[in-house]
Amino acid sequence: MNRMIKGSMACAMLSAAMVFGGCQTVEVQEKIVEVKAPTKEELFLDRVAKGEPMPVEEILSYIENSRDEWYGWGEGFDFPVHRAEKYLKDWTIVLDPGHGGDAHKKNWKRGPTGVREAAINLRVGLILKALLENSGAQVKLTRADDSYDMGLTARAEVANTIVRKRDGGVGADLFISLHHNAAAPSANYTTVWFHGPVKWSEPDLDPAKYVAHEIGWALRTQVGKTNPLMNDQQMYASGFGVLKMATVPAFLCESTFHTNPDEEQRLRDAEYNFREAYAIYKGLVEYAYGGRPTQSAPVVKVEGSELVIKTKLVDGSGEKWWGHDKERTISSSVNVTVDGKRAYVAYDSKTKELVAKIATADLAEGEKHEVNVHHINMFKHSNYPQRYGFKIAAEGKEVEAKQLPIKRNGLNN
Ligand SMILES: [Zn+2]
Repeated sequence: MNRMIKGSMACAMLSAAMVFGGCQTVEVQEKIVEVKAPTKEELFLDRVAKGEPMPVEEILSYIENSRDEWYGWGEGFDFPVHRAEKYLKDWTIVLDPGHGGDAHKKNWKRGPTGVREAAINLRVGLILKALLENSGAQVKLTRADDSYDMGLTARAEVANTIVRKRDGGVGADLFISLHHNAAAPSANYTTVWFHGPVKWSEPDLDPAKYVAHEIGWALRTQVGKTNPLMNDQQMYASGFGVLKMATVPAFLCESTFHTNPDEEQRLRDAEYNFREAYAIYKGLVEYAYGGRPTQSAPVVKVEGSELVIKTKLVDGSGEKWWGHDKERTISSSVNVTVDGKRAYVAYDSKTKELVAKIATADLAEGEKHEVNVHHINMFKHSNYPQRYGFKIAAEGKEVEAKQLPIKRNGLNN
């Protein structure tokens, strides 16, 4: 495809030459200059048409420069902008491309012909970052090149300590570790891993299930071979280091197996990495579209022999939706525990206000207490945060409970 560009610069120079030559009556014709060098976007589409392997820079350039074209749903674009991506706007997401800095290590985390897992993870991370940033999310990579490795705790700390743009709070909305799996050559299925008992992991599992289904579908792995959601303590007694150190919602993708010979060859190609990153992006958009419920920080107060807890639930589906005054919280899911004991709960679905009561005699001994608030919305998405800590004050004095991290084994029990 050649683009016709009017040569206005060439025309201006020609006019100047005429003036110096003293010839003032010659009429200057505008010249048409043909520019034949293909643009980056054209190169990209050309490679797609020819089925050639794609360098990651070309994919990133395509995402950066051709975003408007992506709105062409059903017009031959495999990776259109998701029309609901605005629901990810201002989310803070930390992406963690696994491993790194291991090119000098012989036979270390490589496929049968030597494709390195660390390099694949990084390409997926870079492409996913570009996709999510286009949606308006704030995205940070734990490592942005392939020259170094990072400790697992340091990776989780990036997510635990990042300052959110939307509210100035600390801690990412999501932490996603990106990996590819290794096993016998025949294996090539998708797994997404979470840490700890499911009762602690709801904010991890909600986005993880969307992402697991999208990856399996997009990369046509052996869907149905296993349940795609896996507890990391199936693998190691203490779980995966990077997940157990994360105090924010987190999961880890083992998207496909680089040890499968056919899959290894596909994973070389950044266009295939784009397919994987796009699946994760699409899963996250679908999740955000349904909203993550939350609530105001609970306020606790001793009244006589009871502890009274008040909070206001937010179903996460957007305050401005048509029909936002209708109930979108599954009322049977609303419950509150204090120091692990179930409190009596009264929830007003009109005002969204929740009042919970428990006898002070039922509280655990000691100064520090924990209140857990739980509810799910009509998309069956769980609230976050769920844990708060507080100390008892004098009778009648209100105390605002402070958010606690997600409970992880060995970290903050
Ligand atoms: Zn790995």
